[in-house]
Amino acid sequence: MRKSYRHGNADALDTPIVDAGMRQLWQTGWMHNRVRMVVASFLVKHLLHSWQDGAAWFWDTLVDADLASNTLGWQWAGGCGADAAPYFRIFNPMTQGKKFDPDGTYVKRFVPELKRLPAKYIHEPWLAPENILQYADLKLGSQYPLPVIDHDVGRKRALEALQTINGA
Ligand SMILES: Cc1cc2nc3c(=O)[nH]c(=O)nc-3n(C[C@H](O)[C@H](O)[C@H](O)COP(=O)(O)OP(=O)(O)OC[C@H]3O[C@@H](n4cnc5c(N)ncnc54)[C@H](O)[C@@H]3O)c2cc1C
Repeated sequence: MRKSYRHGNADALDTPIVDAGMRQLWQTGWMHNRVRMVVASFLVKHLLHSWQDGAAWFWDTLVDADLASNTLGWQWAGGCGADAAPYFRIFNPMTQGKKFDPDGTYVKRFVPELKRLPAKYIHEPWLAPENILQYADLKLGSQYPLPVIDHDVGRKRALEALQTINGA
């Protein structure tokens, strides 16, 4: 993960909304607040990275990097800050994408390899039938990766890990 973030290349990581956000950050030095929350939750909870890792990358790349807002933003998403989101609140990147980028305009701007996909599949390209992938000239696993982790598997693993911390 850090390598991909670090080098800021067009490496895709997982879900289109997360990839779009990380590319927006690398290309523009800014990321919309909604996507900051989604990528932060994904890094800390789905991938079990420490929030400090993400905060360090945001600190390096954000033009509006602010120590207090960045630190508290990551702790909020990580479920460990002063008024954090409850630790069991785990953003689903696909449903967040469908709700806040329903026609995929944002994803298609920063993940152009998905631009020919119908909006129905833009946030879950791996659910698209073969004829749709052929129409979109998209080879999953080479032009765009398959998910590094299944959402439900990641969510369950995060809850188990966080419960050990919270003694719940
Ligand atoms: C993981 C994470 C990291 C973040 N890192 C930073 C950071 O390094 N620097 C930073 O300024 N904000 C940070 N934020 C807060 C917020 O995402 C940005 O302030 C906002 O997206 C900046 O865009 P804007 O200027 O268009 O905001 P607008 O929505 O136009 O708001 C105007 C101003 O209000 C303040 N503001 C708005 N939302 C927040 C918020 N949630 N927390 C604190 N201040 C806010 C900012 O100063 C912002 O410039 C972070 C949020 C998260 C979830």
